[in-house]
Amino acid sequence: MGKKDRKDFLDSLFGPNIFPHTRPAVIAGPCSAESEEQVLRSARELLAIGIKVLRAGVWKPRTLPGGFEGYRETALGWLTAAKEKTGILIGTEIATAEQARLALEHHLDFVWIGARTTTSPFAIEEIGHALSGHDIPIFLKNPIAPDLALWHGALLRLSRYGHTKVIPVLRGFRLGDKGGLRNSPLWYLMREFRALNPSVPVFCDPSHIAGRADLLPEVIREASLQDYDGLMIESHPTPHTALTDAEQQVTPQKLRELLSAWADPLTSHHTPLYDFRQHLRVIDDELIRLVAEREQISLQIGKWKQENGVESFQSTQNEQMEEDRHTYALQHGADTKLVKALFRLIHQDSVAIQDHIKKNR
Ligand code: PEP
Ligand code: MN
Repeated sequence: MGKKDRKDFLDSLFGPNIFPHTRPAVIAGPCSAESEEQVLRSARELLAIGIKVLRAGVWKPRTLPGGFEGYRETALGWLTAAKEKTGILIGTEIATAEQARLALEHHLDFVWIGARTTTSPFAIEEIGHALSGHDIPIFLKNPIAPDLALWHGALLRLSRYGHTKVIPVLRGFRLGDKGGLRNSPLWYLMREFRALNPSVPVFCDPSHIAGRADLLPEVIREASLQDYDGLMIESHPTPHTALTDAEQQVTPQKLRELLSAWADPLTSHHTPLYDFRQHLRVIDDELIRLVAEREQISLQIGKWKQENGVESFQSTQNEQMEEDRHTYALQHGADTKLVKALFRLIHQDSVAIQDHIKKNR
């Protein structure tokens, strides 16, 4: 099972002439449907650059209440009008059984399930049931938390309702990182997903991973090197006026340029070594986050000791810690010498942080 199966799968979604065979399959469109004109203009400009499948959110799941939550059924009408006028295929995000029903009633060509919804097995169950009997393509974004079982479980749940056209979409994970990308991609999770379903094509949503238009190229490049089959990407005729996710949207013209950076698989340097390095990078990022968290705790210990007149370094406490670390390293098959050396450094750092507080009292 390989690329050929994935191409056949893609062709089965909307017919053979919708996604070009030589480039990634692309679904694009605004984060939110904002007016009949905006949807129609998006459709025309996307068709002009060869994109035949339009996405637009009509129910917007907002983290905080009170913001713009989409034009709902009215916006579904704008989508169907754009389809009638231009022939573009249309889809939106659904999060409830009622929305699923409305999507069918408006003859949408596909739906997607957002990150917040994939997190809830009850919601997936209800959507699967509401869509049953209609083998409509369902794009399934990863859940907010990096939990492969939850994501894969959602696919299995949907397939129990007879859905065979379920396509996972990597949109990144909310890990509380500061700076850089909006959501950490954790590419290895999609690789694990792929290993479970080798004949299923996979999509990347670079917009919600990057969070900023200027960071899109690096995410798209990565997706191409990792041989993703398609992209779901946000594109707006006038990004600066967008009601949601303005910073990450690009015009269709700009999108065309971005897509030209898709690496040719024949000339790219995608090797297993590349994958291993990616995996190491993810682990190293995690280590760094933990070091930062640990340093914060050392700082609090330092403050407490200073207020209570306790010395920074206490040798009995340290010996006990070293012994515990040694046993733990043995249990997990880690190199005990490395662990010892590492914790000497970490401990020195902790003492230095505490001493610094004492000196600056
Ligand atoms: C979106 O695609 O506009 C969206 C809200 O996606 P996600 O569920 O990935 O946040
Ligand atoms: Mn969005």
